Amino acid sequence: MQNIIDVKSIVNESKEKLKIEIDKLKKENIHPKLAVILANNDSASQIYVNKKRKMCEELGIIDEEYILDESVTTEKMLEIINKLNKDKSVDGILVQLPVFSHLDEKLILNTISPQKDVDGFHPENLGRLLIGEDTIVSCTPKGIMKIIDSLGEDLTGKNAVVIGRSRIVGKPIACLLLNRNATVTICHSKTKNLENYTKNADILIVAVGKASLVKKEMIKDGAIVIDVGINRIDGKIKGDVDTLNVVDKVKYITPVPGGVGLTTVLSLMENVVEVAKRRK
Ligand code: NAD
Repeated sequence: MQNIIDVKSIVNESKEKLKIEIDKLKKENIHPKLAVILANNDSASQIYVNKKRKMCEELGIIDEEYILDESVTTEKMLEIINKLNKDKSVDGILVQLPVFSHLDEKLILNTISPQKDVDGFHPENLGRLLIGEDTIVSCTPKGIMKIIDSLGEDLTGKNAVVIGRSRIVGKPIACLLLNRNATVTICHSKTKNLENYTKNADILIVAVGKASLVKKEMIKDGAIVIDVGINRIDGKIKGDVDTLNVVDKVKYITPVPGGVGLTTVLSLMENVVEVAKRRK
C-alpha cells in the first residue's frame, strides 16, 4: 500500500551514502570503531546486538564486543568504559540496556564520554538537544526524523502528538519536533482522554509498548503516524497502532516490523561515523 512508508528503501539509500563516507575515512587511515558492552541475559538484547554487529560488518565499521556475565560489578564496567573513553581508536561506546539489575545503570551511562556516547543518552547530549544545539542524537528519534524528512513535509505549525515520555524515545523526539517548529504535545500513562489529543495530531508518534493502543477512531484523517512500539504477540511482532484498520485513514504510516527498528540501527552507524569524522 502506498501510504505504508517503505522504510527499507530509505535505509538502503542511506547505507549506500554512509558506505561511501566510511570508505573515504578509511583512505585517510580513520577506521570507525564501535565498542558494544552487553551485560544482561535478555534474549531481545542479544538480538539487537546481533543486528548491530551485522550492520557494522556490512558497512565496514569495526565492532568490538564485551559480553559480560552476571559476576560483573559496576566497578568493572566503569573500568572498561574508562579504558574505552581514553582509547583514541574507539569512536563510539554503547552499553546495551537493560544491564543486570545489581549494576548501577545510571552511573554506568553517565561514565561514557559524551563525545563517544553514540546512543545519545548522556545528560550532556540530552541537554544540548533540549536547547537546540548540535549534538549526538539518540538513535530511535534520529531515525524517526529521517523517516519524516523522507516524506518532504514541512513541520512548521503542525500539531505533533507524542505518546510516551521515555528518555530513549518520547522526550528526545518531542524536542526534535519542537526544534523543527511543530506544536508538540506529550501524552503518557497519566494522560486523561488520550483520544482528545490524538484526534488533532497531524503527526502522531506512538512509543508505548502496548499492542493496538491507537485505534482508527483516535486518528485524524490524513495524519502521519509513526509506530515505534514493539510487542511480541503469539510469536509475531506488532506495533502500538491498529495498523490494519487505520491504514486507509492516514496519509502515511510506518510498518512494524520493518519500520522504525531499521532506522534505529542505521542511526547508530551514522553516529559512529559522525564521531569518527571528528578525529580529523
Ligand atoms: P518505556 O516503557 O520507557 O515508556 C513507555 C511510555 O509509554 C511511558 O512514558 C508511559 O508513560 C507511556 N504509557 C504507558 N501506558 C500508556 C497509556 N496507556 N497511554 C499513554 N501512554 C502510556 O518504553 P520506551 O523505551 O519508550 O519504548 C516504547 C516502545 O517502543 C516499546 O514497545 C519499545 O520496545 C519500543 N521501542 C522501539 C524501538 C525501535 O527501534 N523500534 C526503540 C526503542 C523502543
